[in-house]
Amino acid sequence: MKPKISLLMILAICWFGCKEKESAVPEKKEAPGREISGKGNNFYFPKDYVPGEVIKITKGKSVLYVEKAGDHYRLEGDIMLTQEQVNAFRSDTSARAVIGDAAKLWPGGVVPFTVNSNVTGTGMNMINWAIQHWEATTGIDFVPGTGQGDYVEFEGSTENSSAVGRSGGKQTIRFTQTSGLECALIHEIGHAVGLFHEQSRADRNNFIAINWDNIRPGMEHNFQTYVDRGMNGFDIGTFDFNSIMLYPSVITDPNFVFDVTIPTIERVDGNPYWPNFCGLSAGDLESVDALYRPVFLKAIYSYEDYSSDWEQYNISHLSVKVYADAACTVEINLPRRLQVKYRLSQSIHPGQSGGYDGSVTIEPGQNQYYIASATTHCRYDGSMNPVPGCTWSSVGILAGPGYTYAGW
Ligand SMILES: [Zn+2]
Repeated sequence: MKPKISLLMILAICWFGCKEKESAVPEKKEAPGREISGKGNNFYFPKDYVPGEVIKITKGKSVLYVEKAGDHYRLEGDIMLTQEQVNAFRSDTSARAVIGDAAKLWPGGVVPFTVNSNVTGTGMNMINWAIQHWEATTGIDFVPGTGQGDYVEFEGSTENSSAVGRSGGKQTIRFTQTSGLECALIHEIGHAVGLFHEQSRADRNNFIAINWDNIRPGMEHNFQTYVDRGMNGFDIGTFDFNSIMLYPSVITDPNFVFDVTIPTIERVDGNPYWPNFCGLSAGDLESVDALYRPVFLKAIYSYEDYSSDWEQYNISHLSVKVYADAACTVEINLPRRLQVKYRLSQSIHPGQSGGYDGSVTIEPGQNQYYIASATTHCRYDGSMNPVPGCTWSSVGILAGPGYTYAGW
């Protein structure tokens, strides 16, 4: 006789049906950005930047530092938070993509926008250029807004700032109307679409080192990772030194740093970095795709069974298959690197249960990938009761950034 408890346990976990329909953002092609000369971008820190009062917000074990700037709050120099968001700030933020919450994305990748009356001809040209870059390189579309519903308003300002993701109602992208600083707008739009700063990634210390000695007291919070803040988040892809969402190596704002001529952020090998392209990098596009063009994964199980009378012994192997659509009818090769999260659940007789969550990074180009295996091994006594030490295991896919788990 062969008890099949592990199969039942597998059946019991992670049952999701394929969803009927999800809005798919159409594929767009690459478009030119612009080479920039000099020593990288410093548009994050415009000359007239006025540091606000630093406020510490504690929530459980999480500590969040923000700057109060008039009627709004700033995080990391240019990320705008409303009073409501500050109040609501909790665990759900991420590294390159802050949006673990799909409700904060723009439906269908469509962003309605209006332009404040203070925007000059120069400012208008900058907006058009930045929007064209976004539309040409990603599936995001900008459409004229009516001032109703959720929309972005571009406003000329002495600061560059934006909320992260769709806040609900009107949200303002403030920018300095100086020809040549269009990269700042691409960056701020990145926040509005849902991207966070590259240097906030959990894994950033493997790639960059912060020169804390050069940072003015009170400004350290601008260089925290989301883990430092006690928040949950996702790192999408690998660290990208060309990201438009990365602070410059040399920060030239004396409000932030003591010495504006030396690197405040360096590569871990001690060298500075000089991005020379004003536009979305490969890593940025990967992040936007992860948010707005997720792939759909279906779980596939295969089994090895060595069971005999009085002994159950089998191994289940979990793989995923990649689809383009929510109904899982169109198989595709994975278009980009993906981190697939899984949970291994285990119970050991008598009375112990546990397990762990893990993840596997899969590289693009294939349609099916092995993820993890779970082993069940149990002996039964003459009364068909499991003997102590019996171990039942199962493994299933968890939700994660850049993919939708579509069941099995
Ligand atoms: Zn920013």
